[in-house]
Amino acid sequence: SAQSVPEWKMTYGKVGTYGQKLRHSIQEQRQSLPIFRLKKELINAVNDNQVVVVIGETGSGKTTQVTQYLAEAGYTTKGKIACTQPHGVAAESIAKRVSEEVGCRVGEEVGYSIRFDDCTGPETVIKYMTDGMLLREILMDGDLSSYSVVMLDEAHERTIYTDILFSLLKQLIKRRSDLKLIVTSATLDAEKFSGYFFDCNIFTIPGRTFPVEILHTKQPESDYMDVALITVLQIHLTEPKGDILLFLTGQEEIDHACERLHDRMKAFGGDIPELIVCPVYSALPTDVQLKIFEPAPPGKRKVVVATNIAEASITIDGIYYVVDPGFAKLNVYNPKLGLDSLVITPISQASAKQRAGRAGRTGPGKCYRLYTESAYRNEMPPTTTPEIQRANLGWTVLNMKAMGINDLLSFDFMDPPASQALISAMEQLYSLGALDEEGLLTRLGRKMAEFPQEPPLSKMLLASVDLGCSDEILTIIAMIQTGNIFYRPREKLAQADRKRSNFFQPEGDHLTLLTVYEAWKAKGFSGPWCVENFIQVNSLRRAQDVRKQLLEIMDKFKLNVISARNNSTKIGKALAAGFFFHAARKDPSGGYRTLADHQQVYIHPSSALFNQQPQWVIYHEIVMTTKEYMREVTAVDPRWLVEVAPRFYRSVDPTKISKRKRQERIEPLYDRYNEPNLWRLSKGRW
Ligand code: ADP
Ligand code: MG
Repeated sequence: SAQSVPEWKMTYGKVGTYGQKLRHSIQEQRQSLPIFRLKKELINAVNDNQVVVVIGETGSGKTTQVTQYLAEAGYTTKGKIACTQPHGVAAESIAKRVSEEVGCRVGEEVGYSIRFDDCTGPETVIKYMTDGMLLREILMDGDLSSYSVVMLDEAHERTIYTDILFSLLKQLIKRRSDLKLIVTSATLDAEKFSGYFFDCNIFTIPGRTFPVEILHTKQPESDYMDVALITVLQIHLTEPKGDILLFLTGQEEIDHACERLHDRMKAFGGDIPELIVCPVYSALPTDVQLKIFEPAPPGKRKVVVATNIAEASITIDGIYYVVDPGFAKLNVYNPKLGLDSLVITPISQASAKQRAGRAGRTGPGKCYRLYTESAYRNEMPPTTTPEIQRANLGWTVLNMKAMGINDLLSFDFMDPPASQALISAMEQLYSLGALDEEGLLTRLGRKMAEFPQEPPLSKMLLASVDLGCSDEILTIIAMIQTGNIFYRPREKLAQADRKRSNFFQPEGDHLTLLTVYEAWKAKGFSGPWCVENFIQVNSLRRAQDVRKQLLEIMDKFKLNVISARNNSTKIGKALAAGFFFHAARKDPSGGYRTLADHQQVYIHPSSALFNQQPQWVIYHEIVMTTKEYMREVTAVDPRWLVEVAPRFYRSVDPTKISKRKRQERIEPLYDRYNEPNLWRLSKGRW
């Protein structure tokens, strides 16, 4: 067709008007899934066994159908059915799909519960939730008494939360003989899972897959992004019909790729068929994400540019071509830096196979691997290391302590973390004041465990209540936990950066984020204002949501929300109270040195402090690209560090002072937490 290529925008509404499915076709589609024929056998297997491991190709219907089958079989009369997902985005989009299949609104019979978003109601009997949320529910009710079935879905992803749930549920099923446990997995971990759960039965759903031709590059590629985009365009221009799935590592890469694809399509002019570009990552609003499921209209092709989440958690029909650069962004604990960082890491062979398999669901497909066959065979590890063996365990340890699990070193993990990792997590929690000298949870620690976020953030929030700046810190925490705030399109970089610098605050990036939010609020949370200022409106809306959720928790525990009224010292101290161990000092030989262990780090070029380079800073995280960059940097007075973190920056040898004095030094900010009255107010939960 001679249509011109439409303008590509940051709102991805292109596919929206097509493909509204009717309910009867939904039922037809349900019945065509491989699992449908096995419905009776599956229900029998669950009736007859307390634990069942279910394996089957992705897309066979495990996630969307098993819950419905069990509901039809009467399990929801005895309690709710929980189905856990490693990714919140997946939980939400699956719940929406299943409620459509059931014929209810999401939040009625079918709901979801993810961090900062609970969409369930009194009628909810099928509940999709992140594994982290189920873990939090166990914290409240160790018997999960409101559930009749727990399905640990996508268990092969081996998130920390799933791993802990494995072992807690293993204990729980001994206490509750009526509770059913289903563990599903897309890959070959079934034997291991079955072995762990007392050699339980494995239920296999025969696959329905087509052959996938796998192509490797002849030479290693240095710029995978470039090669990936060329490959996508080549497929679009030369291959027969079928949609494309491109795997990238995160939001920044995905936005960048989408933009460049659009640019190149525009450069071709109107003579080639349209390529519909659909990004998928967790910071996108779900209505945008749901668009990826809509088929491309005839004569057009769709390219889905996604993170790992499209590897197994969500299934998109109609994909014939997969482009796999061979990388994923993983949360990796760096013992040298004493912290987690997101690192772009080569994927495992198991992931590579899984990615390739995505091309063979609708018909014979092709997978373009942007690495050599020898790299696949010799350099990639066979499977991905479970997160529990590579990530910071701070949140996990805090929550296990809050559940009353004190002896972590002898806990029944499927694959135990290194004891050093457990110990450093405990050390971090001790320096935050969440654990006492004996490793037991303090009152502060118990409060911190109420918040679904990393312990340093919770500490920062609780400190801000005492410092009188919780209003501002709430916003800062919400802003930090959402995606990129600033939008930097390539063709308007200079303009975007100029707009961004208007928000810069001399104190640093945290106050800059606060300023953005406050300015947006002053404009009545306006969308056009965001566009004008090159701000990602979706990120701000998320921040608004997160803030609301945190506020609810604060209300519940009667924690005051107080404004600092422009006293930036208060805010600086609260930031330091959470992130004192992420402190760095300017190094005469260039860059900064971390105070904790003298690693060389740099201020990220996008920081408000990049030109200023103050003497002392704290930062939120390190990202490793060409250098080790600090992100979200704020200038601090080093005396604050000693004041807020005496356990970490000991100014006095603690053995030289009396016990009473020592306690005064240890928790100067939290004296009021020792007042019993306050605790009585909070319904005796502490
Ligand atoms: P599994 O868990 O075995 O990988 P699922 O139950 O997730 O399989 O998916 C079964 C089918 O439902 C797939 O064909 C998938 O394309 C379809 N599906 C899932 N979510 C949606 C959605 N939001 N819109 C349309 N189809 C969907
Ligand atoms: Mg699934």
